[in-house]
Amino acid sequence: MALLQISEPGQSPQPHQRKHAVGIDLGTTNSLVATVRSGMAEVLKDEQGRELLPSVVHYMTDGVSCVGHEASEHNIADPLNTISSVKRLLGRGLADVKTFGGQLPYEFDSDDGGMPKIKTAAGLISPIQVSAEILRKLAGRAEIAFDSMLDGAVITVPAYFDDAQRQATKDAATLAGIKVLRLLNEPTAAAIAYGLDESTDNNSSEESTIAVYDLGGGTFDVSILRLTRGVFEVLATGGDSALGGDDFDRAIAEWLRQEMGMAEDLNPIEQRILLETARAAKEELSDSDQVALEVLDWRGTLTRELMHSLIDGLIDKTLRACKRSLRDAGLEKTQISKVILVGGSTRTPRVGEKVAELFGTEPLCSLNPDQVVAMGAALQAEVLVGNKSGDDMLLLDVIPLSLGIETMGGLIEKIIHRNTTIPVSKAQEFTTFKDGQTAMAVHVLQGERELATDCRSLARFELRGIPPMVAGAAKIRVAYQVDADGLLNVSARELTSNVESRIEVKPSYGLGEEEITSMLQDSFSHARDDMQARALREQQVEADRMIEDLLAALDKDAEALLDAQESQCLHVAINELKQVRASSTEHRVLARQIESVAKASEEFAARRMDASIKSALAGHTLDEIEKG
Ligand code: ADP
Ligand code: MG
Repeated sequence: MALLQISEPGQSPQPHQRKHAVGIDLGTTNSLVATVRSGMAEVLKDEQGRELLPSVVHYMTDGVSCVGHEASEHNIADPLNTISSVKRLLGRGLADVKTFGGQLPYEFDSDDGGMPKIKTAAGLISPIQVSAEILRKLAGRAEIAFDSMLDGAVITVPAYFDDAQRQATKDAATLAGIKVLRLLNEPTAAAIAYGLDESTDNNSSEESTIAVYDLGGGTFDVSILRLTRGVFEVLATGGDSALGGDDFDRAIAEWLRQEMGMAEDLNPIEQRILLETARAAKEELSDSDQVALEVLDWRGTLTRELMHSLIDGLIDKTLRACKRSLRDAGLEKTQISKVILVGGSTRTPRVGEKVAELFGTEPLCSLNPDQVVAMGAALQAEVLVGNKSGDDMLLLDVIPLSLGIETMGGLIEKIIHRNTTIPVSKAQEFTTFKDGQTAMAVHVLQGERELATDCRSLARFELRGIPPMVAGAAKIRVAYQVDADGLLNVSARELTSNVESRIEVKPSYGLGEEEITSMLQDSFSHARDDMQARALREQQVEADRMIEDLLAALDKDAEALLDAQESQCLHVAINELKQVRASSTEHRVLARQIESVAKASEEFAARRMDASIKSALAGHTLDEIEKG
């Protein structure tokens, strides 16, 4: 026995029917998909043999043009329509997003007041839609590998993600047509990939404490896990959802800008060029001591030492977060027995050095730090989908931020404290404020601050039908329940009358069920088909009108204006158009046919025009006509 199995109710696997499950690491910078083959987790490659899929989507006027490597190539030429780092925006409100304004080149708008959308050539696109494109691409890669549909996926999220961000991730998967077996915290996935769950003797009471240090492109997470008798427990999580290798790039790009003597207000294209150069230099410096730089017509050198002076401050920031998490977990750093390095940015040797120095132990890094998360997710998916008979996995995760309720005076009363392990349910009693009060507003909040306005608003609902009583007499029990995915259910019940009201928290910036359904119906890939269909319909209407008009005209004027052969030609053209109109599903083909009929009938139209002018003129003087 290792971890306790968390499989979906009613989902017991058929003995010999293997299901196709994957683990997906939906990263800020790169995403991956992995599966388990012959008991081993393995990252799936694309047709070119590449494992990482850059989390980038390029949009054009008629929708998504490409996803991944191909999309990254548009970075420089078309930055505003090339959407990257969208994970930073997932589940965020317009106000949050505006604070990232300096970091991302996009323009934002919101067409429904809540969820911010990115302005692109294809219209307003939500971060959920962008993420769905990435997930769809990865699911497609897996389906090719399996030559079969996907049964389900475990998708990883930073431990730091709040409810809205988790919900947005799930929404993106739903939009991509992927069944989410579970959302899994990235550090937990990494620990599973290292097989740490199997490394302690289940029968002994031996305990080990693990720190997972994950520095990716856009997020930094540190998690402290405890492993007892094969059971994982996340003791604490911390980090910074807006700190990663991208910030190294920005620091180096800023140095470059100054060295190159460029003005501060770079245009988006210059900005991208500097960032791309900075990133390439940084990655090269993981293997060499210095790198020669060529940007536009500037030449220079960046040494490791110089880079360290640019990024040390950022690394130190991650170390401070590590110390905070240790404090949250109530541990000394000497009590940490293993440290795992995760994320592409831990390939910068300086990072490993500083982490080793802080914890006083050499971190584990034998698995590819870009891949560990996807691999662990795949192992977990294998269990959840029912392929691995499980006296397995218990994964205890924690709430990253406290959940509470707004009370009188705009204060927050915390009901579930941060770092409480989940699943969890807690309840608290409240009462009415006024005599005869029959309704109560429940405002669900998440955050550590004292004032409701400083916390994230997750949901509001009302409890109605409370029997009128004097103030303070009613007893209203508010229960918060968080499931294994970290999603919240809140209910409020008046205890004497038993009136109840509940809500599954649809975070303010997430999508409602209906919206998801309707988005699914006209989701992005369909939007393309829809546009095709509409264009075809327009051409069909045009063809019908042309056929009808032309036949009527022939009926009326052919005899007077055309000879037999000319008339015959037009009838042939009309018949051809009728045929294409009936058979073609391609609007361009139909449009060409319409065009050719228009050409063929030009002469006839001209003669009719002349004839009608003549008849209009008949009986009028030129003078009258000119006064018109
Ligand atoms: P995320 O989890 O945010 O998607 P990854 O774990 O894929 O990100 O890490 C991406 C980051 O890793 C980028 O900032 C990238 O520049 C950095 N990176 C990748 N390879 C190297 C390398 N060899 N040396 C230093 N940094 C690297
Ligand atoms: Mg990552």
